[in-house]
Amino acid sequence: MLNERTQVGVIGAGPAGMLLAVLLRRAGVDCVVLERRDREYVANRARGATVEHRVVDLLRRHDLAGNLLRTGAVEDAVEFRLGGRRYPVRYEPLAGGRSHYIYPQQFLVRDLVDAYLADGGDLRFETAAEAIDDLTGQPRIRLADGRELRCDVVAGCDGEYGVARRAIPAGALRCADYQYDYAWLSVLAEAPPSSDCVINALHESGACVHVRRTPTVSRFYLQCGRDETRADWPDERIWKEVRIRLALDEPWTLHTGPVTDTGTVRMRSLVCDPMRYGSLFLAGDAAHIVPPVGGKGFNLALADAQELALGLIERFTTGDHRRSDAYSQHRLARIWRAQEFVHWMMDLVNTPGYGTADAAFLHRVQAARLTRLVDSPAYLAAFLEDYVGWW
Ligand SMILES: Cc1cc2nc3c(=O)[nH]c(=O)nc-3n(C[C@H](O)[C@H](O)[C@H](O)COP(=O)(O)OP(=O)(O)OC[C@H]3O[C@@H](n4cnc5c(N)ncnc54)[C@H](O)[C@@H]3O)c2cc1C
Repeated sequence: MLNERTQVGVIGAGPAGMLLAVLLRRAGVDCVVLERRDREYVANRARGATVEHRVVDLLRRHDLAGNLLRTGAVEDAVEFRLGGRRYPVRYEPLAGGRSHYIYPQQFLVRDLVDAYLADGGDLRFETAAEAIDDLTGQPRIRLADGRELRCDVVAGCDGEYGVARRAIPAGALRCADYQYDYAWLSVLAEAPPSSDCVINALHESGACVHVRRTPTVSRFYLQCGRDETRADWPDERIWKEVRIRLALDEPWTLHTGPVTDTGTVRMRSLVCDPMRYGSLFLAGDAAHIVPPVGGKGFNLALADAQELALGLIERFTTGDHRRSDAYSQHRLARIWRAQEFVHWMMDLVNTPGYGTADAAFLHRVQAARLTRLVDSPAYLAAFLEDYVGWW
């Protein structure tokens, strides 16, 4: 039987919702997590995998990083490719020992679900929130079967298409939305990684990004036409283009394998300001979206969850609202910095003017930007500060 009342009603058991719930529960704040999908689905939904060092530190502090540290892979370089040449960028000596971990998002969600349930947390799978009422008073989350969950605070961690943001009256949020001209086909394959770091290939035919996921799974992103669909990309075309775009003038091996999942990625950015309305707080993709270049979306969602947890713990354990009141302002400064970086990186990696007469000129500008990045220590330091994330 669902609780009728809780302090924090968390909508969504993705990275943001689950980290928030674990931290609240461990601090003695009562919460209920509602998730519309089943446990199996949530534990296997493959998305991002690049975890920033500061998120790893946070997880470690809360004793949530055990599996990540045991089975994740350390990543301390990123490679660019252009014109058959490699341009490797090592994080050291500039990064002060910081690195990324490669640990698929669904594994971390699985760890957080296990930790929350082991702590006795209340998590309802296959329970969709339909609407949220009375956001400026005592909010109530309405469920599909007509039941209601009364909360002191609602945390909308229900992703890009959830109900939380839509429950806020029109005009109360300023949502800055940006649609990039670029489009990507995302390809998940049962193929061992062909590199031990991310490869971003800049190519006249369009970008190609290779990201390792696990020792047997790799993800590839191929820049494609905005109107193209999966039907335009049979598996033979995918591997042919991957080979062309990642080609080197030196020997190297591309590992291929069965394609297990594909999708067209909407290259969209969105930031909603403020990330709060009354007693409803938004976190993660419910409040902001970034394209996958640079691996920021998953990390921003976890950082939101941490800050919101700290604010709500203070609010419910001491009655001090200052930190939760400052949540939106605090997070938005960091989210806009990440947006600016991703915007810059989109233009670095993607072939501008894809398929148009401008492409040749714009590709040369793109190449000049890469040359500057690898030749200028100052430019490289600024890049790594954001890419590795130590600001
Ligand atoms: C194909 C793909 C690749 C990506 N690659 C990367 C990457 O490489 N690096 C990176 O950093 N980011 C990446 N991202 C982005 C990253 O996955 C997201 O930023 C991250 O999942 C955001 O976490 P979240 O918890 O805010 O939302 P989500 O992970 O979307 O979780 C929201 C949860 O809410 C649930 N929900 C929704 N509506 C309701 C409702 N009404 N009631 C109850 N539950 C509800 C959903 O089922 C879901 O479980 C990728 C995304 C995609 C789609």
